[in-house]
Parts: sequence; C-alpha cells; structure tokens
Amino acid sequence: MDDNTKTTKSSKTKKRCSFCGRAESEVNFLITGMNGYICDNCATQAYEITQEALGTAASSVTGEKLNMDELPRPIEIKAFLDQYVIGQDGAKRFLSVSVYNHYKRLLQKDSKDDVEIEKSNIVMVGSTGTGKTLLARTIAKLLHVPFTIVDATVLTEAGYVGEDIESILTRLLQVADYNVKEAEKGIVFIDEIDKIARKGDNPSITRDVSGEGVQQGLLKLLEGSVVNVPPQGGRKHPDQKMISVNTKNILFICGGAFDGIEKKIAQRLNAYVVGYSASRETNSLDKNNMMQYIAPQDLKSFGLIPEIIGRLPVLTYLEPLDRSALRAILTEPKNSIIKQYLKLFEMDDVKLTFQNEVLEYVVDKAVEYKLGARGLRSIVETIMMDVMFEIPSQGKKEYMVTLDYAKAQLEKVNMARLQTA
Ligand code: ADP
Repeated sequence: MDDNTKTTKSSKTKKRCSFCGRAESEVNFLITGMNGYICDNCATQAYEITQEALGTAASSVTGEKLNMDELPRPIEIKAFLDQYVIGQDGAKRFLSVSVYNHYKRLLQKDSKDDVEIEKSNIVMVGSTGTGKTLLARTIAKLLHVPFTIVDATVLTEAGYVGEDIESILTRLLQVADYNVKEAEKGIVFIDEIDKIARKGDNPSITRDVSGEGVQQGLLKLLEGSVVNVPPQGGRKHPDQKMISVNTKNILFICGGAFDGIEKKIAQRLNAYVVGYSASRETNSLDKNNMMQYIAPQDLKSFGLIPEIIGRLPVLTYLEPLDRSALRAILTEPKNSIIKQYLKLFEMDDVKLTFQNEVLEYVVDKAVEYKLGARGLRSIVETIMMDVMFEIPSQGKKEYMVTLDYAKAQLEKVNMARLQTA
C-alpha cells in the first residue's frame, strides 16, 4: 500500500526537461530553473546553437562568411598591397596566391571528392626594413579571417623564461573573440623566425634554449595538431583552463632577416658550380643581390631544422630597397611618410610643402648612412621637429620645407644616432 502511494506521487511530480519532455530518469541530469528544467542533452544543444550564432557574429567582425564569389582574387590582393608597399613584386605574388589558396582550402569541405588541399605555409626572407611586417600588416586589412602578428624572439621552450609556443595562438584567439572555430581558420604571421635558428650547424649536446626546442614546438603547430592554448597567453600553469585549438587549417606566414644568409647562399652556389661549367655560372650571378638565389637548403645551413623547412613549402625573398624604391616610399604609398606630415599640418590649417630637393636629400642621407626605409622616417622627423614645435602657435597658413632648412636641421644632429632607430 505504502509502495503504491509512493509511485503515484512520484509520477505526478516527476521532473521533466521543459525542452524535450524527457523525464529525469531518462537523462543524465536535469538543471533546475525558475519555472522548469533543462536536461544535459538540451543544454548541450543550446550551447551549440549559441556558439553558432555567436560564430556568425564573430565572423562578421572579422569579415563576412567566406564565399567563393566574393573572395578577392590574387591579382586584386596584389593590387591592394601595391597601394601600401613599394616593389617586392615576387613576395606580393606569393602572398596573394597563398592567401587566396588559404580561403579555397577553408571552402573545400563542400567538395565531395577525395582531393584535400593541404596548406602551404610561407617563409619570407629579406633584410630588416624591406617591408616584411608591412606586407603582413597590409594584408591583414583585407583579410576575411582572423589574423595576428607574433614575434618569435619571445618564444622559448617550456620551462625557460619567455613565452610558450602555444601563446602564438592566444593572440589569434583574442582576435577571434575567443571563437575557436574562427581562430582555427586564421592566419598567423610569425616575425623574426630566424631568431629561433639553431646557433651552430651541428645539433649540440647542451640545450639550445631559444633554438631547436622552440623549433620542435613550432613544428607541432605548423604540422597541424590539437594544442592546448593558455587563454591569457604567457606561461602555462597547472590551474589555468586551456582552450584546445586545432592548427590544421591555420596558415602560418613566417618572416625573417636571416642576417648573413647571403654567405650561405654564395657558399652553396660556389660549391655547386665547381665541376660544372664553373666560370659561366658564377659570372652570371648578381653578387649584390644574392638573396634572389635563396633555396630551402640555405635555411637549413642557417639553422632551421629540416622538418620546419618542410612545413614551409613556399619560400620567397624581399629585394633590398634601392634609391628609387626609397624615394617612392617617401611619397607613393597610401599612407606614405610625407602624406602623414601633410595631414599633421593640415590639422593646424597649415599647407605644408616640400621642395623636391629635400626629398632627394632625405633619400641620399638614408643611403649614405645605410638607414634603409626605417631611417627615412627618423630623418624626416629630425628635419621637421622644430617646425612642428613652433608652427601651431604661429598662425601661418603655409610652410615650405627648403633644402637649406633640411640640411641645417640634419647638421645639428649626429646622424649615427639615427642608425639605431
Ligand atoms: P621588416 O619587417 O622587413 O624588417 P618593416 O616592414 O617593418 O620591415 O618596414 C619598416 C618600415 O619601413 C615600414 O613601416 C615602412 O614605413 C617602411 N618600408 C619598408 N619597406 C617598404 C616598402 N617596400 N614599401 C613601403 N614602405 C616600406
């Protein structure tokens, strides 16, 4: 009798999921709300629906959903880069194609056949100040996927002072608003990849903190694997909740100056030439721009492990900037240095002009002191400092920078100081 009452009572008050109607006994557990319940199944589904909705929102932050018809074609991508970056045609073409292929790879799941497009990570080699980072930053402006630039110099093996390799992905997650699915389609630019090269050519017995261990770690990311990423970056610590990110579809673009690699290229070419038609081959080499002959084995001689090189199948180089490139950099890019100064003065209602000779003079000095493109800005800044100090209070409507003035300003400073700028 007692038992019977119990059963009827419990069937009346039986807790059920307010979404699917399943009873408490049919599910793993029920979560109690104000006026109802939700079972673990429905909660999971609700979570997935929310994620999807948020995913759409996040992707509209980083760009609209990928769609083959609307993707910028390589020629368009390059044309965009041309507006900001002078020269470097080769690197621009490689980048444009790689980014375009990256999009295609993301869309490939629609295809029914067995052909799977693998990613082609890129490595760009070029002296410092030739535009590697600028290319990366510029391409970021038109990307439809999350993008971040990280610096390889801060990376160290786990257990050493510095950041864990996985922190590379933290930045990507942050850009994607912690939407893992979006981050997994992203592009990462790893700057200064040459700084994690092995110091000696022979693997050493002593531990090479910033070298091989880091490369092994990086290899894992490049290959495509599921890695645990510390959401706030820095060091992993045991209590931190990790986010799993699959790097299979993340495109890695690496850049580095690889100082001194020209020597390795020259060595290889000479070695190669011996025994062949030596004189003809060596004579036709352009000794002032050895970078153009770069090949994967030179990266190996420089200290990158073969496995990493294998995962960076696209190798491109940046040209050294000659005089005419430097001159163009001053005025031609959409946000060129000179345009920036005109804008600064315009905000004070001053029409700024430069005598053409001033621009030539700036380039001469940059070449003379081997300051490169980066030096252009410091030179112009030095010339303009006093004017910028005085003009806002003078009420002038226009100002022309003359060659005499520019010379006088530069003569006041020690040019060597600009060298480190
Ligand atoms: P890298 O990463 O190769 O060391 P950056 O891209 O940081 O060099 O270049 C430094 C600065 O020099 C840039 O911010 C830009 O102002 C200028 N610069 C370098 N190369 C170019 C280029 N090819 N076109 C336009 N500006 C350039």
